[in-house]
Amino acid sequence: MNILKKCNLCPRNCSVNRYNTLGYCQQSNKIRIAKAALTYFEEPCISSSKGSGTIFFSGCNLGCVFCQNKDISKKNYGKYISIKRLAEIMLELQSKGAININLVTPTPHVINIAKAIKLAKKEGLVIPIIYNTSSYENVETIKLLDGLIDVYLPDLKYYDDKYAKKYSNAKNYFQVATNAILEMYRQVGNPIFDKDDNIVKGIIVRHLMLPTLKEDTKKVLYYLYNTYHDNIYISIMNQYTIIEPLKYEELNHKVKDKDYDEVIDYAISLGIKNAYCQLDNTSSKDFIPNFDLEGVVKN
Ligand code: SF4
Repeated sequence: MNILKKCNLCPRNCSVNRYNTLGYCQQSNKIRIAKAALTYFEEPCISSSKGSGTIFFSGCNLGCVFCQNKDISKKNYGKYISIKRLAEIMLELQSKGAININLVTPTPHVINIAKAIKLAKKEGLVIPIIYNTSSYENVETIKLLDGLIDVYLPDLKYYDDKYAKKYSNAKNYFQVATNAILEMYRQVGNPIFDKDDNIVKGIIVRHLMLPTLKEDTKKVLYYLYNTYHDNIYISIMNQYTIIEPLKYEELNHKVKDKDYDEVIDYAISLGIKNAYCQLDNTSSKDFIPNFDLEGVVKN
């Protein structure tokens, strides 16, 4: 059965025929991307000095009011490409020296992505594939990727669903996301690094700390460590950036250094060893990609 004819790929469960109707994510049956380039601002084991081959997909099935990539997630900037072209792009990024293929906001496109990965592998793609997601995912959809994804890079944005509803328009986020992450862990298991300390298998869960939600962040860390101990990595991020003034006054501030320090101390007190944290001054628009269709069209 063609899932895109009655799309229930994610928990929005729109049930629309994407050949003629757009659902919540605004995506049709075709792949749409806004940029494909080497990036250097991910965790060191993902970017290295050589770069991560990052493909930014248009659309998003979450709805974060503070989204840093609004041009693609909400405004749907991008260009339609074929499955064959997506496979070619993966191979081109590999030729440019990318140490992995990093699929950003892939959820609405997962059916076509799976086909492109298989095609690219037949044509010589050997670098690890990273699935970089908000985690608002159906377990059944993640199961479709079994054997195709090497590294999962899921967010765990909130512990308390009231914040997920308020800031990301998502019901049951914590249950949905943690179920998805369990399936990801079932597939890829404990982290494995190559001789250059680049990750080639495993999970890094990202948590972007929001201003005033320090206690929620601690609950996220507690859950992750008590569930996985040091069998996953946790990336604790303070790079929250205000793109434009929001109606939620509490979000119109950077994360305070003292709150971030307190969270890092808490992580240490829990016993977390496998974690990434960020240095000061990461809250900057300089880290937001310029969506310019780089790498999308064949030169
Ligand atoms: S992938 Fe898009 S169309 Fe499909 S259920 Fe999710 S939001 Fe709806």
